[in-house]
Amino acid sequence: MRKRKKRQRIPSARQPSAKPLKQQKDRMAKRVAIIGAGVSGLTAIKCCLDEGLQPTCFERSEDIGGLWRFQEHVTEGHSSIYKSLTTNSSKEMMSFSDFPIPEEYPNYMHHSKMMEYFRMYAKQFDLLRYIHFKARVCHLRKHTDFPITGQWEIVTEVNGKQESAVFDAVLICTGLHVHPYFPLDSFLGFEKFKGKIIHSWTYKNPEKFEDQRILIIGLGNSGVEIAIDLSHITKQIFLSTRTGAWVISRVSDGGYPLDIAHFTRFKNLLYHILPVALVNRWGEKKLNMRFNHENYGVKPQHRFLSKTPVMGDDLPNAIIAGRVLIKPHVKKFTERGVIFEDGSTEENIDVVIFATGYNFSFPFTQDTVLRTQTNKISLYKYVFPPHLEKHTLAVIGLIQPVGAIIPVSELQVRWATRIFKGLNKLPSDNEMMADIVKKIQYNEKRYAASHNNSLVVQYIDYMDELASLLGVKPNLLSLLLTDPKLAWEVYFGPCTPTQFRLTGPGKWEGARNTILTQEERIVKATKTRPLQSCTDTKVTATSSFFIKALTCLGLLTVILSYL
Ligand code: FAD
Ligand code: NAP
Repeated sequence: MRKRKKRQRIPSARQPSAKPLKQQKDRMAKRVAIIGAGVSGLTAIKCCLDEGLQPTCFERSEDIGGLWRFQEHVTEGHSSIYKSLTTNSSKEMMSFSDFPIPEEYPNYMHHSKMMEYFRMYAKQFDLLRYIHFKARVCHLRKHTDFPITGQWEIVTEVNGKQESAVFDAVLICTGLHVHPYFPLDSFLGFEKFKGKIIHSWTYKNPEKFEDQRILIIGLGNSGVEIAIDLSHITKQIFLSTRTGAWVISRVSDGGYPLDIAHFTRFKNLLYHILPVALVNRWGEKKLNMRFNHENYGVKPQHRFLSKTPVMGDDLPNAIIAGRVLIKPHVKKFTERGVIFEDGSTEENIDVVIFATGYNFSFPFTQDTVLRTQTNKISLYKYVFPPHLEKHTLAVIGLIQPVGAIIPVSELQVRWATRIFKGLNKLPSDNEMMADIVKKIQYNEKRYAASHNNSLVVQYIDYMDELASLLGVKPNLLSLLLTDPKLAWEVYFGPCTPTQFRLTGPGKWEGARNTILTQEERIVKATKTRPLQSCTDTKVTATSSFFIKALTCLGLLTVILSYL
């Protein structure tokens, strides 16, 4: 007979010591369950505390950090990274909005540095005490009184025992890159192949692949980085792509990080007002000037703006040195190799790595709670399921921004917690559905087909959209009148997350100074051999100021002439 698992009640989350009046208030505060203690879960705990809510976080593993905590072995249901992984968004763009990354940290951080930063964040805001580790959420379901109270029942498994508790609201922070998308079945003859086939999710380091001939399928960030990582010690790397990609580099003009140089409000306005064809031509020309995408075999079928480009600093070096050979899509596997769509073949392939991305799913809940189809989900502003009778459930971090995810998760939680408290309201179900459909249609039209293009958002546009709902979008006109220096940096400087701490709920006193010193922190990390400042830099800076000022005046004139 199967032994029934014993159910217990989960003890309430421990609360920080406080004065009696505060304790009374806490008892009345809404209890919020947070599933997952990765980046999204950590910021969820912090934002709940900021709003006076009572967080209880359940984390199935024994530590914080989620994807960013490197482990030698993969665990089913947990995201995984390789040993050499370095971020593809820069530190000023990917930090939490009220907790800047230390100035001496590199602009692009190794995963170990990211973990150090998350541990500092958890310590600074005393977050660990709210986390139940080794507690896997196995069921999330509506409480019987849900239509009246909006409450949820959560069943967790701890040391083989099931425990249950009721919460007033739930934040799902279980990650997007968790379940490998492994489309083996769509490849003819794969079952005959005698070599090894793995997914990039299980790739950890290059050592055991020494002197082998390896085929990597997928020209995404994982495919490119794993190809480079392996290419120094393997016999040959073949990198197969179905559609090609525009390849960008972490280091941009003047040596600034790419997102710092391009994600400014000024440039974002230009992208919106200039014809798409012109921006495409400009982007492609710039990327082809670094290396000709056609000659290097990666030229995509889509235009520059139609798909997120791939980060591949070292890819042209590896191709020009012959360590990586770009190949078309695989038509068929043979016993020892593959036949590509152009008819060429490669034999004696030892290993095939599917760098084909990830699917998301919520195995702990039913379709009536979260309606998902393969990699598609209906969420209002990518956060709230619209069909629930009460809006006490939010999904955090389930998004593919062209830019960093961390500040996006943070802003999503800031908004969601205000909705839970009733301080912000959602529109009617029909209005939410209409917005979801509009976004899906927009993405289908704008982006080339790929298995997660319904989740793609442009960083500044999406952050501004959420910030407007929350009341934290910086008001440029009022800033210009009251604090022109700050207004200048907010408009022409990188649109860093701290911009959303200048005003409204969650306003942070340190925001102004953090924004005005971001340039120093960026440079400090690379300028480890200080030199006396030379006039050239000053001349460039001054001329760049005048160019920006003139462009601004020009734009203003154009806008005024339309009014
Ligand atoms: P995760 O980090 O996946 O954390 C989810 C947590 O939930 C885990 O700790 C997991 O154990 C827990 N959990 C899951 N299910 C349960 C359950 N049932 N019960 C209890 N706990 C559960 N983004 C960037 O912004 N910049 C980058 O440079 C960048 N690089 C990336 C590199 C790679 C290789 C990949 C795959 C992604 C990268 N990302 C990057 C995106 C990345 O997903 C986010 O940065 C971020 O880690 C997402 O955090 P999260 O907390 O939402 O999810
Ligand atoms: P991905 O971005 O989804 O890319 C998957 C690739 O596989 C695409 O090139 C896709 O080609 C290809 N593919 C999918 N299905 C295929 C099929 N059936 N046949 C052939 N090719 C197929 O996945 P990823 O590269 O693993 O990246 C996942 C996330 O992690 C992204 O957000 C990425 O930015 C992040 N990441 C970051 C870093 C970093 O920070 N250093 C490193 C790695 C990953 P098509 O384009 O033709 O569909």
